[in-house]
Amino acid sequence: MNLSTPIGALPKVGFYFKSALNKLGIFTIEDLLHHYPFRYDDFSQTTTAIDTKVGETVTLQGEIWLIQNVFTKSRKVLTRAVFNDGTSAIELTWFNSPWLTKSISVGDRLQISGKVSKYKNKLSIVAPVWEKIGPVQQVTPSLNTGRLVPIYPETFGLTSKWLRQKIAEVLPKVEGEIEDYLPDEIRGDLSLLNESLNKIHFPQNYDEVNQARKRLSFDELFLIALATQKTRLSWKDKPTVKTLIFDEQKINEFIKSLPFELTQAQKKVITEVIDDLNTKKPMNRLVQGEVGSGKTVVAAVIIYLMHTNNLQSLFMAPTEILAFQHHKTLTKLLEPFGISVGIYTGSRKYTKNKESGIMNTEKKDQNSEFEIQNSLPNVIVGTHALLSEKLKTENVGLLIIDEQQRFGVAQRNLLRSKAILPHFLTMTATPIPRTIALTIYGDLDLSVIDELPKLRKPIKTFVVPQVKRNDAYKFIAKKIDEGDQAYIITPLIEQSETIQSAKAAKVEFERLKNKVFTKYKLGLLHGRLKSKEKDEVLESFRKGEIDILVSTSVVEVGVDIPNATIMVIESSERFGLAQLHQLRGRVGRGTKESFCLLFTEDQSPMVTRRLKNMESISDGLKLAELDMKIRGAGQIYGVKQSGRLELKIADFSDVSLIEKTREAARKILKDNPPLDKYPGLRLKLAKIMAEASPD
Ligand code: ADP
Ligand code: MG
Repeated sequence: MNLSTPIGALPKVGFYFKSALNKLGIFTIEDLLHHYPFRYDDFSQTTTAIDTKVGETVTLQGEIWLIQNVFTKSRKVLTRAVFNDGTSAIELTWFNSPWLTKSISVGDRLQISGKVSKYKNKLSIVAPVWEKIGPVQQVTPSLNTGRLVPIYPETFGLTSKWLRQKIAEVLPKVEGEIEDYLPDEIRGDLSLLNESLNKIHFPQNYDEVNQARKRLSFDELFLIALATQKTRLSWKDKPTVKTLIFDEQKINEFIKSLPFELTQAQKKVITEVIDDLNTKKPMNRLVQGEVGSGKTVVAAVIIYLMHTNNLQSLFMAPTEILAFQHHKTLTKLLEPFGISVGIYTGSRKYTKNKESGIMNTEKKDQNSEFEIQNSLPNVIVGTHALLSEKLKTENVGLLIIDEQQRFGVAQRNLLRSKAILPHFLTMTATPIPRTIALTIYGDLDLSVIDELPKLRKPIKTFVVPQVKRNDAYKFIAKKIDEGDQAYIITPLIEQSETIQSAKAAKVEFERLKNKVFTKYKLGLLHGRLKSKEKDEVLESFRKGEIDILVSTSVVEVGVDIPNATIMVIESSERFGLAQLHQLRGRVGRGTKESFCLLFTEDQSPMVTRRLKNMESISDGLKLAELDMKIRGAGQIYGVKQSGRLELKIADFSDVSLIEKTREAARKILKDNPPLDKYPGLRLKLAKIMAEASPD
């Protein structure tokens, strides 16, 4: 057995456990060792029953005097035991575990850990963790009791107890093999890797936990920094063959043709992009801009610029809804300048024939997409269908990815292979705190559109109490009478049996149509509709044929219908603040005053307090940071989906560690770019980078 042994080769790990482990991202022994506990049950205090106090978490050693299953009035099984350690008796209770009476018998000696409570005036421990021990009093910190007991991220069928057991079995066997790949001058006074792994899983005390955390967090961030900086270097090393020419007059003409004046921030980003293109190195830029800040039009300017250099562009969006919308927007802006815009998605592949202006709609499974060379569009907008081998391209010089957090590294690389000049422009509305952006997007240059178009009025947001629901409906009706349109968002499509407390789009649609907004035209949109149906619904909404669109969060990214001014979000407590902000961003896109009404099923003060932030804060970044504080970094909207990263142990809010590791990575890559002085580190990095690249 060694570190790279597949997990399935371990004794007693059959198909069932193997697939559960895989679900946690554990494929090898090494992965298992790097599956860190996220907290510990403190069972380190061994005491006697007579000394225990209610509320304390304790570990006791004693004998079982009685154990039996009893049925409650509601026909549930309780297992009750009397446990005595020679100083006093304590009652033990377990729920739904009738098999315990077979595992534990009267007379058995146990070490138990748990929290002491009082029940009917008797001391008791509910659901204690237990282990059998020998007849002699041992002072054993054993695996599951009497110590700091590690609690792991679990998955269905795979408990912390099981993981703990396996790690305890495996770690001593491979320990000698764990090489410390960190060069000494970087490691400094951090503890060694094998020591840290031992301490993170089986610490004697919290001091050891902290030492181990320090080292493992450092590694996690350092390796990410190293990987992103290495990618960045290799990217920058590749010179492009072709120099682009900028006809300033033409570009200005195009910008003048736009239906509005660009904001300063938009102009700044365009300049930054032009500077990139002037370096003759492939551009690799991320444009981060608030919802509604106008990223699409920036892309249009760059596409135009490419066209003046006889280069084509591919524009990839995460959903068909968005691809169709971008197709429409770009056609409107670019076609007057003789630039043809095609669409390429799972359900639709057509282009406008330049000469005849006739749409050639082609069937999905035909090989002849964009067959006629002279009608190959100058820009092709699409979903990930663009990655298909069938899409033949030529002269592509620009790759645009909208809402790039939705795509993984593999898809990026595939898209890049379609280009002769791989200039990358990626866009995101996900407000990621700067420290996080630096970590996960360290390989990209960052541009920020930090300004909304003028004339935009801030969206007025209200957390609406249940008693005001009818008033809110009256208000919406009045607004619609004035010519506005509304979105009503629910978290679910269909009523769920398990989540009773969340509204479902289908049910809500029927209710609103038949009982509330009987005078108005309602539409229903959700992810299970066929893409053609989705497109039709959204199109009727765009055209004003639908007054109220009841929808799930499928409209959350990018949809741009400026006449919609009201956003109602049902069961809003089910969304993170940043996601609510994204949803809210569907309104307030025109010059009219817009409103966002947040309804909740849960009226508790904590929920209300969290949601109230939406009333006072209109900055997406601030809301994302609040999410991070309230729900942890993993919850930050977009970071999870990015596929780039989920931190296992380090903390995104640890700015100084992020900076320290970035600096260390920069230094080592500068001194020894191929890392050949550090074979262990080089190997580790290669492994990480292989994981992040195409499947
Ligand atoms: P996002 O950055 O969220 O992708 P969009 O590109 O969809 O935003 O733009 C949002 C809306 O703002 C669109 O209707 C677009 O036409 C409009 N818009 C973009 N730039 C400007 C501007 N400088 N002035 C006025 N409206 C603008
Ligand atoms: Mg957008």
